[in-house]
Amino acid sequence: MTQYVYGFAEGNKDLGELLGGKGANLAEMTNLGLPVPPGFTITTEACRSYLAAGKEPGELRVQLTMALRRLEDDLGRRLGDRHDPLLVSVRSGAMQSMPGMMETVLNVGLNDASVKGLAEASGNERFAWDSYRRLLQMFGKTVLDIDGEVFSDALDAAKTVRGVQTDVELDAEDLKALVVEFKAAILKHSGSEFPQHPREQLDLAVRAVFESWNTDRARIYRRRERIPNDAGTAVNICTMVFGNLGDTSGTGVAFTRDPASGTSGAYGDYLVNAQGEDVVAGIRNTLSLADLEELDPASFQQLMKVMRRLETHYRDLCDIEFTIERSKLWMLQTRVGKRTAGAAFRIATQLVDEDLITLDEALTRVDGAQLAQLMFPQFDVAGAQRTLLGTGMAASPGAAVGAVVFDSEAAIAAAREGRPVILVRKETNPDDLEGMIAASGVLTARGGKTSHAAVVARGMGKTCVCGLAALDVDERAKTARVGDVVLGEGDLISIDGTTGEVFAGDVAVVASPVATYLESGLDAALVGVNEETRDLLHSVDRLLRHADLRRRLGVRANADNGEDADRARHLGAEGIGLCRTEHMFLGDRRELIEQVILARTQNEREAAFERLRPLQRQDFIELLTAMDGLPVTIRLLDPPLHEFLPDRTELTVKVALAAASGAVDPADERLLAAVERLHESNPMLGLRGVRLGLVVPGLFALQIKAIAEAAAQLRSEGANPKVEIMIPLVGSVMELFLIRDEADAILRSVAEQTQVAQAIPIGTMIELPRAALTATRIAEAAEFFSFGTNDLTQTTWGFSRDDVEAAFFATYLDRGVFMVSPFESLDVDGVGRLIQIAVADGRRTRPDLKLGICGEHGGDPESIHFFHRVGLDYVSCSPFRVPIARLEAGRAAVM
Ligand code: PEP
Ligand code: MG
Repeated sequence: MTQYVYGFAEGNKDLGELLGGKGANLAEMTNLGLPVPPGFTITTEACRSYLAAGKEPGELRVQLTMALRRLEDDLGRRLGDRHDPLLVSVRSGAMQSMPGMMETVLNVGLNDASVKGLAEASGNERFAWDSYRRLLQMFGKTVLDIDGEVFSDALDAAKTVRGVQTDVELDAEDLKALVVEFKAAILKHSGSEFPQHPREQLDLAVRAVFESWNTDRARIYRRRERIPNDAGTAVNICTMVFGNLGDTSGTGVAFTRDPASGTSGAYGDYLVNAQGEDVVAGIRNTLSLADLEELDPASFQQLMKVMRRLETHYRDLCDIEFTIERSKLWMLQTRVGKRTAGAAFRIATQLVDEDLITLDEALTRVDGAQLAQLMFPQFDVAGAQRTLLGTGMAASPGAAVGAVVFDSEAAIAAAREGRPVILVRKETNPDDLEGMIAASGVLTARGGKTSHAAVVARGMGKTCVCGLAALDVDERAKTARVGDVVLGEGDLISIDGTTGEVFAGDVAVVASPVATYLESGLDAALVGVNEETRDLLHSVDRLLRHADLRRRLGVRANADNGEDADRARHLGAEGIGLCRTEHMFLGDRRELIEQVILARTQNEREAAFERLRPLQRQDFIELLTAMDGLPVTIRLLDPPLHEFLPDRTELTVKVALAAASGAVDPADERLLAAVERLHESNPMLGLRGVRLGLVVPGLFALQIKAIAEAAAQLRSEGANPKVEIMIPLVGSVMELFLIRDEADAILRSVAEQTQVAQAIPIGTMIELPRAALTATRIAEAAEFFSFGTNDLTQTTWGFSRDDVEAAFFATYLDRGVFMVSPFESLDVDGVGRLIQIAVADGRRTRPDLKLGICGEHGGDPESIHFFHRVGLDYVSCSPFRVPIARLEAGRAAVM
């Protein structure tokens, strides 16, 4: 029989897949002897079964009954009893945390009778009625799907009537009246009475948690975070402890280190006389842990001890939720906490220095996406005048500039048009998720560093300033006021998630210190920075150097000119994996290639080539100089020739108009004829790559000659050029043999002319399934393979790379055909399989075959791990991504 229910003492932290993150960690804490209220977890398997069948698995009901009985017997109380009732919380908890995405219901077991029992047992009538109204509110919203505003508006109205600001100022009589009102609202909006039977409440709440797995916002979140759609959530049923039992009670969230900056030392928010989500909801402004120490030193000390224990046990930053019930501490949750990119690097090296982890492990604690974030520009502090509107909390770092919007719809609409916006809200809740994704930054008036806005923004790597108390937001009127300044929709503001500052207008941005470090070295970056930045730079440097030490994969850059090559080299590139020579034929040069295309005789064409050759030679000299001593792979011309000619439609119109007025330029006519001749329905599958080399006599010869001459010249000047020639879009070994024969002859003749002997390897790109499948043969004629995974993805899937992403990928992602575009992250099962075949077969023919990848995937973290596993020699990516690839290649080697 499948076990669907696990007592907290039965699980452990490694059972996350089955018990969800929250359940697994509650079990771990229970077994560590930490003060966890007793309870049990319904597995993710039960959820999957429910979602598949549309009903609970048969055994669940009995197992739930047994677990509940055991809990009741242990505590000597009954769920929802009319005397001293046992109450439970019902909380979701997936394997990967999805903050605020799914449902929670607290105080399950309260009804018209047990509320009185609770009042008696606690000796606090106000508390009992407050707990009941919370149950009605949460149950109404999450289980019965009633608009939350029905309840929050009634609560606000009650406060207005009493002339008070906060919930805690409402007394027992006010709350009783609210309970009546909430029950009436439930009847009105759901068509039935609030269920009084405790077990019915429990069953409905469990089902609501299961179903919350599939809400729109949960799906959107999973897509963004690449969480599988079929994982399901666990449900945790936990004895209620109460933070709303008066001034000696409260609830809080804490981190063992600051998740925003990484500074060591506990960090947290605490709310007196509050329950559950009050803290993260950012509804009231919170106290700090230092305040808690003053209020309740004993609980504070115990909390610190628990946090130290958790950190040494998990050997990482932990975040926790706790409740203090009448001065007794209870742990409600822990997990390895989310953190900003900067904090991740700092914490990883701190933990090494504290002997909790090794440097190899430290590498697994950071990733390329975080490094990329640290490379983003920041606001120019020394720059022109800035108008500071106010300073809130630095919740998630970065510099964001955009037009103010007040709701998700406006943010999404702007994102569609490519306009950057800042989402400005009083506070955010999970309904704002889509807007947060669409916006460049998030600004809220209320809530601390652990508010919903802060936690979610940090998780997404989105710039966020929260709790700007001076900001008065009127979401309905779509205006916000800060001091004398009134902001309306569309007004530009700039927010700094690193300092919490908010500026009017558009503030200039400059390079981040990490970008400066990567481009100019540690010493240059350390000039004039503060302690925190200094520490961060040292951490990044240390981990990147360790990654370089560990990685087996080489990292090269895709660069087409001396300047990019130079930048790439500073960023740590160990050569060029792809120089796209077509980029050398743009601008003024376009006319020269046009002459090649328009040539009527071979002589005319040769003459055009001769004009191009010295220019190409100079291009290659610059490139090889920038990368002196390192390999430079130059790809011969790849794109269809029509790309160098004017647009067909425009030219047709021009010639037609000229014809109408009787003054056609014969050159235009010739050009149009060429455009017509070269027009293709599927140019990406047409006359391009090696096919051009075979069909247009002299084209590849020009390039090969220019490459050989450039290298010979540099070598004769004492430099050490290491050039490699790469043939694109090969599908048959015969194509390659033909080009090789031509190339070998040219290389021999240049060697004779220049009297410089040099070995120039010739290899091929693997961009077609046929090339991968016939790699045994292709390797006979190629000294290296470089996987062109852009074209290989296109040709494997039959996806036109220029068309499909905009046309229908959104639908494909929505419908779960894939989790991420295969042009972004390698399709391991399909394209990856072809790569594996080509690697194995190619090496069988030629054991020293050099293997690289130069498609976009060369800079994608997940793909890099795959390339490491299948034994490639190097990845090549855009210069900006070189540090990211270095880090990920190092991680791949130690993971
Ligand atoms: C590729 O196809 O992966 C590649 C690198 O070539 P391009 O993107 O220039 O077609
Ligand atoms: Mg290609």
